[in-house]
Amino acid sequence: PNAIFGEARKNSAGVDLSDPLVREPLLGRLRAMESRTYEAAPTERSRGEHPIRRITSPHDDRIEVGIAHEATEGAIDRAMTAAAQAQPAWDALGGEARAALLDKAADLFEDERETFFSLCIREAGKTLPDAVLEVREAVDFLRYYASEARRQFSRPMPLPGPTGEVNELRLHGRGVWTCISPWNFPLAIFTGPVAAALAAGNAVMAKPAEQTPLIAGFALELMHKAGIPRAIVQLVPGDGKVGAALTSHRLTAGVAFTGSTDTARMIARSLADRTDGPIVPLVAETGGQNAMIVDSSALPEQVTRDVVASSFQSAGQRCSALRVLFVQDDVADDMIRMIAGAIQALAIGDPGKITTDVGPVIDAPARQALRRHLDWLDLHARKIIRAEVPVDLAEHGFFVPPAMYEIESLAQLTQENFGPVLHVVRWKSGQLDKVIEQINSTGYGLTLGLQSRIDTVAHYIEQHARVGNLYVNRNQIGAVVESQPFGGEGLSGTGPKAGGPHYVARFATERVTCIDT
Ligand code: NAD
Repeated sequence: PNAIFGEARKNSAGVDLSDPLVREPLLGRLRAMESRTYEAAPTERSRGEHPIRRITSPHDDRIEVGIAHEATEGAIDRAMTAAAQAQPAWDALGGEARAALLDKAADLFEDERETFFSLCIREAGKTLPDAVLEVREAVDFLRYYASEARRQFSRPMPLPGPTGEVNELRLHGRGVWTCISPWNFPLAIFTGPVAAALAAGNAVMAKPAEQTPLIAGFALELMHKAGIPRAIVQLVPGDGKVGAALTSHRLTAGVAFTGSTDTARMIARSLADRTDGPIVPLVAETGGQNAMIVDSSALPEQVTRDVVASSFQSAGQRCSALRVLFVQDDVADDMIRMIAGAIQALAIGDPGKITTDVGPVIDAPARQALRRHLDWLDLHARKIIRAEVPVDLAEHGFFVPPAMYEIESLAQLTQENFGPVLHVVRWKSGQLDKVIEQINSTGYGLTLGLQSRIDTVAHYIEQHARVGNLYVNRNQIGAVVESQPFGGEGLSGTGPKAGGPHYVARFATERVTCIDT
């Protein structure tokens, strides 16, 4: 045990996809799972009451992955009531007992990881390497928040001071948390806030994105199997209306939301307007307009590799993904040429194939929004490359070609473009301060990449950039739970950082007892 960082925790198991003896049998098992279908339904389900949503694969809309039964207002009310009744006993269990159940859930997630891989690929359009990372992150969240429950929720914290009394601080659950998640990390970001709220002694209404309810349903099945009571963690599938009904419900005592900045504002407004129930805290993790700065000391091969990973892995559908590359003008032509060459070599296609680099985007509205943006860029920017989508994929899948355009300034981009589109801006030597000003002036503050071998440049950026996560001489996607807590500021979120030491406590309420001795 470590006084500051808590218990050492088991690392999640990886998969060595570079080893054909591991990879090929795994691909075979995943192919054999392709005919399976799944069902997700509200934990408080009543037969016949729920509207049905058919879930198909983003890369081929003829493939049915399963069906979701969506929650109605009546189901939400029943679920909330049952959760609120069950929550005090869950809180009273204490951190140690809750941690044991979360650890058990983590073990079950690992046992069932191939089902999760298959669902990540078929329901969310993820490639296998992305799916492996996704499951590991979910497992890490469960185990890390379990260790936080042990550290902070097992015993009262004695408080020092001159009063001559016994003073103690205890953390308790607040009641029922509503956890709303996006489709782009349908397992990891679904699991993280749910696990944290549970660790802190709350009951949870877990609402996955309407595009990815099946993987969430399977995750909840495993949490229940681990022994977490059904009333304590409940699946509430549905779209934004279901989300809104949950956040405005009188029994919601806290909201954890990950998704777009606009939706976060909408939720904040509805919480502020409530006249019944408690004043409700909101933990929001939202969008970004993420940049990378490249100066003339950077290594071109490394820049190329890191830019391509940051912009095009997961088809650019990561909140941390690189959107705007600032290249110092004396190296810009060479860098742009190398990056364009690497983009040209990306394989677009079926995410289930191991040779695919860039899979589909999530659905038709996402493709439509990106196409509109690309058409706008064709008119207002210099096209460097807009790759082709193979004809056989275009008819039934939601594919968007990886693209790179040069623009004059970051101010031309008025919104986050959530897909495989990279914008490039040149900057002049001696004007690093202007680059940072442009980046800060977006109001977003999620990730920033830097490629430079000059220490003073890194220090300057560290001091002046208002971003949550700065990545130096590496790609800017992927954050390891506990080692690299993740989350932004400003328009990118409220904090605390997911996977960091302050996260779980934010889901709790603090009570102090002082006893005159
Ligand atoms: P979204 O805001 O459209 O939806 C997110 C979730 O909110 C979904 O479950 C949706 O059903 C629900 N929702 C929609 N309207 C609602 C309302 N009025 N009340 C309550 N819930 C409502 O976002 P998305 O398109 O699913 O996800 C992509 C966005 O998420 C991007 O902006 C991305 O940057 C962001 N994101 C941020 C992080 C982070 O850690 N900062 C991580 C992943 C994704």
